[in-house]
Amino acid sequence: MKSAIYPGSFDPMTLGHLDVIKRASKMFDQLTVSVLDNKAKNALFSVEERVSILKEATKDLPNVSVDSFSGLLVDYARQKDIHVSVRGLRAVTDFEYELQIAQTNRKLSNGALDTVFLTTSLEYAYLSSSSVKEIAAFHGDISQLVPDFVAKLVYKKYNSGSMED
Ligand code: ADP
Repeated sequence: MKSAIYPGSFDPMTLGHLDVIKRASKMFDQLTVSVLDNKAKNALFSVEERVSILKEATKDLPNVSVDSFSGLLVDYARQKDIHVSVRGLRAVTDFEYELQIAQTNRKLSNGALDTVFLTTSLEYAYLSSSSVKEIAAFHGDISQLVPDFVAKLVYKKYNSGSMED
């Protein structure tokens, strides 16, 4: 069985992430989307909230499961016996960062964890979680960037005054 992990911050999940998830779910028998619990990053949504958003968005994809992890991806992947990490590439600016992570993970895992890159669908090339948050913070329109139920949750965060990010 071919399994893969799609790790990321997903703060929050965007239509760009969902596009990568849908495409990767067709390439692998099992895809685990996993939220990185990165205490260093000041997140808008808690890990539990991000997991629940991803679960809702992927509920019709039977071979996709959602999880979270902290620490090194290589350790998490070894525990799960998964040998492929999926990442998305938008522009050249992503490339250097992603190349570094991919090389480091292969080295740290002694070759056990490799990375597969999916290039972004053109309509999502400029879409990031950060831009969603910036636009929402100024009450701009994010309806083309995230699913409707996510847009509601994002606006709620900014209206409730808990603007951590
Ligand atoms: P991280 O903080 O780990 O970069 P993100 O949640 O920002 O996590 O992104 C997770 C992965 O999804 C990264 O590989 C990123 O390049 C990719 N990604 C993010 N947005 C898009 C998009 N619009 N199209 C394709 N890939 C994307």
